[in-house]
Amino acid sequence: MQKVLVIGASRGIGLEFVRQYREAGAQVWATARGEHCAAVQALGATCWELDVADATSASSLSWRLDGLNLDAAIYCAGLYGPDTAGLEPPTQADFDTVMHVNVLGAMRLLPAMAEGLKPGGTLAVLSSVMASIGGRSSTSGWLYRASKAALNSVLKDAALALQGRALCVALHPGWVRTDMGGPAASLSVQDSVAAQRRVLAGLTAQDHGGFLGPQGEAIPW
Ligand code: NDP
Repeated sequence: MQKVLVIGASRGIGLEFVRQYREAGAQVWATARGEHCAAVQALGATCWELDVADATSASSLSWRLDGLNLDAAIYCAGLYGPDTAGLEPPTQADFDTVMHVNVLGAMRLLPAMAEGLKPGGTLAVLSSVMASIGGRSSTSGWLYRASKAALNSVLKDAALALQGRALCVALHPGWVRTDMGGPAASLSVQDSVAAQRRVLAGLTAQDHGGFLGPQGEAIPW
C-alpha cells in the first residue's frame, strides 16, 4: 500500500491530494494548522496539527514520521501575501509572514520529510510558475514570486543533499481554482491534483532536482 505525507492539507490543493490518494487506497498522513484537521480526518487520513511557521510545532514532525517509510512527501503549505504591482515594496510584516511559510517552513520540514521517506521515495514542494526567473513576463505578486524562487533554491539544495536517496522535485500545479487561485483560474483542483499525481508517479532519475509543470514539462528556473 502506498504511503503519502501531505504538509498543509486543510483545504485547496493539499486537501485534494489527501482525497485522491485516499481514494486510490493509499495510507495518508497529513498536517494542518489550528482546528483544521477535521476535513482531513473525514477522508480517513491521520492528521497532525502543525503550523509550518511555528518552530516548536514543526519540530514534532521528525519523531512522528519515525519508521513510516513513506513513498512520497509533499509540501503544499503556502501563502500569496499582498498582490503588489510593479516595484511596490512589501511591508516587513508581510515579508516575514510570506517568507516564513513559503521558505523557512520548507527549510525546517524538508529534512524530517526526507528522513521519513523509504529509499528512493519522492520529496515534492508546491512551487509556482511565478517563481520562474527565466520565463518571467509580469511583476504582479512581487513578494510571492521572490518567495517561490527562494523555495526553488531550497528544493535544489535538498536535491543535491539527497542525491541517490530520494527523488526531489518542485511542482507547478497550474492555475487552480482554490482560495489562492480564485474562481477565474483555468484548472479545477481535481484536475490539477490528478495531473500532479501522474507527474509524481512517472518520475525518473532524470527528473531529480527538476521544476515541473502539471504535464510533467520542465519549467525554466
Ligand atoms: P490555498 O490558499 O487554498 O491553501 C493554502 C494552504 O496552505 C492551506 O491549507 C493553508 O492552511 C496552508 N497554510 C498556510 N499557512 C500555513 C501555516 N503557517 N501552517 C500550515 N499550513 C499553512 O492555496 P492552494 O491550495 O491553491 O495552494 C497550495 C500550494 O500550491 C501553495 O504552496 C501555492 O503557493 C501553490 N500554488 C497554487 C496555485 C494556484 O493557482 N492555486 C498556483 C501555483 C502554486 P490554513 O487553512 O490553516 O490557512
